[in-house]
Amino acid sequence: MKIAKIKITPLFVPYKAPFYWAHGQIDGAEVLLVEMQTDTGITGHGECIAAPNGRAIKALVEDAAALMIGRDPYQGRLLMREAYTALFRAQAVCSAPRFGGQILAGLEMALWDVLGKAVNRPVHALLGGAAHEHIGYFGFAMGKTPEAVAREARDFVEQGFEVIYIKAGFGAARDLATVKAVREAIGPAARLRIDPNESWSPLEARQMIARLAPYDLEFVEQPTPAESLSGLAQVRATSPVAIAADQSVFTPDEAYEAIRQQAADLIVIGPHECGGLARMTDIARVAQLAGVNICIHGLYETGITTCAAHMAAAACPNIDDGNQHMLKFLEWDIVQTPDLMPVAGRMPVLTGPGLGFTLDAENVARAAELYKARLPDGAKT
Ligand SMILES: [Mg+2]
Repeated sequence: MKIAKIKITPLFVPYKAPFYWAHGQIDGAEVLLVEMQTDTGITGHGECIAAPNGRAIKALVEDAAALMIGRDPYQGRLLMREAYTALFRAQAVCSAPRFGGQILAGLEMALWDVLGKAVNRPVHALLGGAAHEHIGYFGFAMGKTPEAVAREARDFVEQGFEVIYIKAGFGAARDLATVKAVREAIGPAARLRIDPNESWSPLEARQMIARLAPYDLEFVEQPTPAESLSGLAQVRATSPVAIAADQSVFTPDEAYEAIRQQAADLIVIGPHECGGLARMTDIARVAQLAGVNICIHGLYETGITTCAAHMAAAACPNIDDGNQHMLKFLEWDIVQTPDLMPVAGRMPVLTGPGLGFTLDAENVARAAELYKARLPDGAKT
């Protein structure tokens, strides 16, 4: 089997309501659909995150894709290494593992989809086999006011979600009001995680965590800037609340270093940060040796990434029971089957071949049109 053709299509899928986080507002998922055709008639799909500029990212993904034409899809790690070397290392920009991961993740996903379809097995079967029957997801409560966040958090608990996750980093007064309102709304039993998305200095983090700890937080995710693992480690050393690393860890090397510095109780990681499913499971193994769980990270993505991350998670013994799930934000999805919404905070391990989904062709076309409509005047796709 050889890779015959790779088509890259930019898409935009709108959100139902604005997504609020510490650094602004997001209105939808801008992604690149990867369609990998083989000479045996099997087609695999993946997606890349198109931010911050879909035209620029598409050009780089197409450069990487061109290197894979005529090659054996069973050589995934070799193809990824060669593409990374050609795009970055050999061009004297040398080390760009995070950006490289973003560019290559969708191609790597499509390779796994091809392989799974070729042997008629779900991808987790090729990643060491499923270690679970279900994957747990947290209820991601969002809203413009503390009361709105609290209402949504209570809805999740009423639906059976055991873990609630909310954004923070909106200023001390607002964060305190939100955490208080949410804890009152969800009662004492539900587990509550907050994510300030790098908004606090180590000193502010110590102060804020001390003020928020009475509300029984389970984790504070990436309170301090990503660039300083030692800052995160300083916070963790005195924190009464467990600390998760998100933006500080994108690569297996960074996972090793976070563990070596004892900077995190949990590592949050998704395929787009690390460059695909093989590297996501590599990070899980590094963490597992230190007794640390990993948690699926979500970006502004479609059901393709939900399936891909879910497949990798199924093969990770140390996947956490509260993972991030981004589909609830989409107005509609480009995945037609299966149903990817967690029920009572859980979703069964997928059983379909490859990444386990079928695409909704009409919604793909609709998303392609929406992407074009959002381009600046005169820009080409
Ligand atoms: Mg986070």
